[in-house]
Amino acid sequence: MRLYEYEGKILAQKVGIPIPAGKMVDSPEAAREVARDLKGEVVIKAQILLGGRGKAGGVKFARDPEEAERLTREMLAGKIRDRKVEKVLVEKKLEIIEEMYLGITIDEIKKRMILLAGRTGGVEVEAIAQKPGAGFARFHVDPFIGVPGFRAKELAKHLGAADKGLGALSNIVSRLYGLTQKFDASVAEINPLVKTKNGSYLAADCRVEIDDDALFRQKELESFGIFPREERGREPTELERKGAEIDRVDHRGVAGRVVEFEGDTGLIIGGGGASLTVFDAILKYGGKPANYCEIGGNPTVKKVQLLTELILSKPGVKRLAVITNVLSNTRVDLVARGVIKGMLNRGIDPKKFPVVFRVPGAWEDEGFKILNKYGIKYFERAHTMDEAAKYVVEMGKS
Ligand code: GDP
Ligand code: MN
Repeated sequence: MRLYEYEGKILAQKVGIPIPAGKMVDSPEAAREVARDLKGEVVIKAQILLGGRGKAGGVKFARDPEEAERLTREMLAGKIRDRKVEKVLVEKKLEIIEEMYLGITIDEIKKRMILLAGRTGGVEVEAIAQKPGAGFARFHVDPFIGVPGFRAKELAKHLGAADKGLGALSNIVSRLYGLTQKFDASVAEINPLVKTKNGSYLAADCRVEIDDDALFRQKELESFGIFPREERGREPTELERKGAEIDRVDHRGVAGRVVEFEGDTGLIIGGGGASLTVFDAILKYGGKPANYCEIGGNPTVKKVQLLTELILSKPGVKRLAVITNVLSNTRVDLVARGVIKGMLNRGIDPKKFPVVFRVPGAWEDEGFKILNKYGIKYFERAHTMDEAAKYVVEMGKS
């Protein structure tokens, strides 16, 4: 679960990482009050679950409370990086003299956490990191040892700290690792980690992701006002809402969880890794997925039929792929019936429309008989999902 910047900063503060003075608000009037209390210039930061706000107009500076109010009003009324802004963080503006990068995440290959420290951070960090000699120090953390003090100091030194700053900065390094351990964070990133004019170091931005599988034991988060939530990058589309509705009215089997894309190939697939394989295959042969739609767990004919109709109702869909890995508990004949009924209901002749079926499972012989009758090309389990995807894309091209 990705946290908002202000939530990440709450955790940073809990472990003793200095953060700018400020407060999260959800109204222009409240922003004005916070700005008044903070005195002087403030920064208004859109709280969305995406980075890159700086470049997208999501980080603005206000000279006085009136301007803070106006900028907050504008931000709350509009969108930043296509996301609605519901909250903003009002903070005292820092006098930044240096912007650095400090991040910790999981290295899935080494199966260890990796700490990254970069001398230059900020909004261009991705571009900087690509360049050779970008000066990023890396350190893999042994989970039984953690981040020893001398390592933290080395990294702080790498970031350019000296004298008194060395202690302050190495504390931030150790504490950021501490944050990941205490709160089961799979990502903890401070970008930029800044040095201010008076020589102090602070987390000007903070991105934290909590491991979803650890949320059950992270009850403490709720006492900070951080609650588990469903994450969706955007509002569901009409098609997605209808898909969820089809799934809701009948509890038998999974046939829903529709995600819509801008594509030409309707997909009825099995979910999980097999779906990703189908996606890749469709793309490889030149098609474009129009949706993601999971089926399994023996859905009824009606459910499959409604879902097929829904997917075929999307403008621009010119072919349909019904492809899954081997299903152990789903009757193939019922899926076949549902797909055919759905096509017929939309006035589509299965003999003429590019459609492929590759669903090995229970009662498949019955299923194949039905498909045969309606002239739908099917692949048995000896043929790969990839082959089926290729077939339908090429069929739709001609
Ligand atoms: P992001 O673009 O979503 O990562 O948002 P950040 O919180 O990292 O802000 C982007 C940039 O705004 C930072 O790299 C800073 O250059 C600048 N910025 C953010 N907060 C302050 C601040 O308090 N004072 C100053 N001078 N600049 C800030
Ligand atoms: Mn940032």
